Amino acid sequence: DIDCVFEALMNTDIDIDSLEAHSHLDEAWIKEVLKKMRMKLKWSKLKQDKVRENKDAVRRPQADPALLIPRSPVVTIMGHVDHGKTTLLDKLRKTQVAAMEAGGITQHIGAFLVSLPSGERITFLDTPGHAAFSAMRARGAQVTDIVILVVAADDGVMKQTVESIQHARDAQVPIVLAINKCDKAEADPEKVKKELLAYDVVCEDYGGDVQAVHISAVTGDNLMALAEATIALAEMLELKADPTGPVEGTVIESFTDKGRGPVTTAIIQRGTLRKGSILVAGKSWAKVRLMFDENGKPIQEAYPSMPVGIVGWRDLPSAGDEILEVESEPRARAVVDWRKYEQEQEKNKEDLKIIEEKRKEHQEAHHKAREKYGTLHWKERSFLKYQEKKEQKLLKPKEKEERDSPVLPIIIKGDVDGSVEAIVNIMSTYDASHECELQLVHFGVGDVSENDVNLAETFHGVIYGFNVNAGNVIQKSAAKKGVKIKLHKIIYRLIEDVQEELSFRLPCTV
Ligand code: GDP
Repeated sequence: DIDCVFEALMNTDIDIDSLEAHSHLDEAWIKEVLKKMRMKLKWSKLKQDKVRENKDAVRRPQADPALLIPRSPVVTIMGHVDHGKTTLLDKLRKTQVAAMEAGGITQHIGAFLVSLPSGERITFLDTPGHAAFSAMRARGAQVTDIVILVVAADDGVMKQTVESIQHARDAQVPIVLAINKCDKAEADPEKVKKELLAYDVVCEDYGGDVQAVHISAVTGDNLMALAEATIALAEMLELKADPTGPVEGTVIESFTDKGRGPVTTAIIQRGTLRKGSILVAGKSWAKVRLMFDENGKPIQEAYPSMPVGIVGWRDLPSAGDEILEVESEPRARAVVDWRKYEQEQEKNKEDLKIIEEKRKEHQEAHHKAREKYGTLHWKERSFLKYQEKKEQKLLKPKEKEERDSPVLPIIIKGDVDGSVEAIVNIMSTYDASHECELQLVHFGVGDVSENDVNLAETFHGVIYGFNVNAGNVIQKSAAKKGVKIKLHKIIYRLIEDVQEELSFRLPCTV
């Protein structure tokens, strides 16, 4: 019974391989179930073997305040499309490059540092727009300390301006307002401030605490004032971090470099990253081979709030993935294994749900059949079903001349009730060709007997055995009577054999 198979499957103690060997249920989805169950077994074994003790890597508990040192703010620029986010980022980055006399080629690594004359530094996340911001937030990553909201003075508050405000609010990140395009004749910064009141963004002029800076991203006007306003806000936030112990950070961007393999940009949030550190992020791990800054320059150490390119990953982690340093490579592997295992468990849960649905479907069909056939023994049920399907009227040998079409009378013997029932069921659903008809003469459990041979002789039939024997005496007797005995150990071979036999009985069409 299929329900029994399921019950057995649900119980992971069973030997699935032997189950399949004995299983007569060769429907495709059963195979699929078996495959999944095997996977599940493999994983649970893995769990027992090594993963369980190790479990996941997690962030450390909060640091002792005595260890904390000030860190620079991490800033995301947000705002409506075309209000000047990209231009502003470019200008900020270029100011920086110009400031460093080397003037190297900047490399897009998703974030960059701007140093102020005062020595203060700001880390800008270089992926404008709130798509990246929300993607990170969705992964639970909280990297941004401050949002610079860009609003074009000639356009005012627009749809994405409002969305940006909402995102900042959801993440509980304070805003600095950058009223852009103030070089334009039609610029009206006051209108922008007034419009923002409706969204509870109250600028200092209106008695609120939001700093507003009138800038032009194109001319570079007032960008320093914007940076200073950002630093002022950061000071109020008292941003601090612990530069000691294992590293914690977040992946900002990840990409595959032809020469260097998987590369990530990260913002370090705790500890100090050095070459040789072992990191895990998502379902990947790294032994840090090389670190570089936004100018592509190799660096030896990365501190909290610093953006850093990291080379040495085994696979590509995703933006927003948490980076954690672990003590050894085996530990990193164990963590990654554990995470893959966890994911597999989730998938398993879904699979089990599907299996459960199938089981219910089957049960319903079973109940319907019950209603129809009452409490008959399965043999009687199977036979009734078979007869219904084939509209078989008689179990009497027909004389050759009487036959309207050739018939293949068969006798089925199997090792257990289950297998016989399965074969009978398959026969009953077997869509026989119109030219040749299948006639089930007899079926039962046990080795092929003399009685079977006699029946086969009478009906000019073939005996099919599944996982049963036919003794020497029986074989000889069958040979004498011209009766074929066909023994099989695999259901589908038996079925194929029946089909072949059927085609033999077809009248010759030349
Ligand atoms: P984003 O979609 O927010 O990244 O906007 P962009 O940075 O691509 O800017 C959109 C357009 O506005 C571009 O044509 C920019 O040259 C222009 N723009 C950006 N900032 C300013 C500005 O301060 N003044 C003027 N006049 N144009 C600007």
